[in-house]
Amino acid sequence: MTTERQVYLDHGATTPVDLEVVKAMLPYFTERFGNASSLHTPGTIAREAIENARGILSKFLNSKEDEIIFTSSGTESDNLAIKGAAFKNQDKGRHIITSSIEHPAVLKTCEFLEKHGFEVTYLPVSRDGFVSVDDVKKAIRKDTILISIMYANNEIGTIQPIAEIGKLAREKGIIFHTDAVQAVGKLKIDVEKDNIDLLSLSGHKIHGPKGVGALYKRKEIQLEPLMHGGGHEFGLRSSTENVPGIVGLGKAIEICGKNMNSEIQRMTKLRDKLIDGILRNIPDTRLNGSRKNRLPNNANITFSHIEGESILLSLDAKGISVSTGSACSSKSLKPSHVLLALGLKPEESHGSIRFTLGRFTTAEDIDYVLETLPEIVKKLRDLSPFGKK
Ligand code: PLP
Repeated sequence: MTTERQVYLDHGATTPVDLEVVKAMLPYFTERFGNASSLHTPGTIAREAIENARGILSKFLNSKEDEIIFTSSGTESDNLAIKGAAFKNQDKGRHIITSSIEHPAVLKTCEFLEKHGFEVTYLPVSRDGFVSVDDVKKAIRKDTILISIMYANNEIGTIQPIAEIGKLAREKGIIFHTDAVQAVGKLKIDVEKDNIDLLSLSGHKIHGPKGVGALYKRKEIQLEPLMHGGGHEFGLRSSTENVPGIVGLGKAIEICGKNMNSEIQRMTKLRDKLIDGILRNIPDTRLNGSRKNRLPNNANITFSHIEGESILLSLDAKGISVSTGSACSSKSLKPSHVLLALGLKPEESHGSIRFTLGRFTTAEDIDYVLETLPEIVKKLRDLSPFGKK
């Protein structure tokens, strides 16, 4: 079913590409098509475009230019950071610390490493969704080689105490990786101030293209490459560079950097309007994850006595797109590992919806959701077999 009004509130899953980004990319599919490894003029033009994008990313993160490695995605950046650091440093130790609310790109990578002789500590989180710095400290052992804690959570938006964890890791001489796929563009990130050694980011979460990402790698950190071949990207990521994608990522980051403060304020206001409107007007609802230290674009709400999937489909019929969990797990009916880690019961987890705002979300969009949602929830509760209505 389609309706006239379309309100996309699933920017945590992916975002529409900004037209300025599309415009920047287009010439690199056609007249500027060169292979950046070629020595002739078309090759040089492609090389310059890549180095320009590298410069934009390094300025944005406050790193050096040769500390940015382009990859194909956030997932690849996480894999390169974690497997790369683990395999390269296994002589020093085989213990890794992470959290129980990481994205599968981190959790499954850690599970893979467990099958290859590494030991992983999965830290719990508080009821409101934070990793405790004290828990990290207690988990550190003589053989700990890597700590990987996400900058901000993709389901509940909580922002972790990254600078403090980074400081602790630095004092102990342990490599610190953060998955910043959801945080980039929505928070001010400075790899120096935050004491970060490795940071993953992705193009398609920030109004850039899909199929391109980057890993920041502090110069002194050694990684084992995952891809072997022509030695691209400082020997860490062989394969002919995705020049249009890299140009698009650079442009997307440039736009984020320009409008960061005003965008944070604008989105926070809309997010709060959405959260307050739902909690005020719909009974038996609660916000998952802390209200403070939360991404400006994330609202995750449990609607008691009903299934998130039914809400999602009813909203979809009204032209509103939301998600029931992280994009990757939302097709499975398993309860969200993040919501379970907060201490929610499986049935509470099933009744949860994630709303994620983006650059083009307007106050009218939020008004439309707030007008539409109470009726849907009431109808579903009237039909619900799950007890209280
Ligand atoms: N990490 C986090 C926190 C994410 O939210 C996602 C995507 O949902 C990823 C990693 C994976 O990024 P990509 O889709 O670019 O592989």
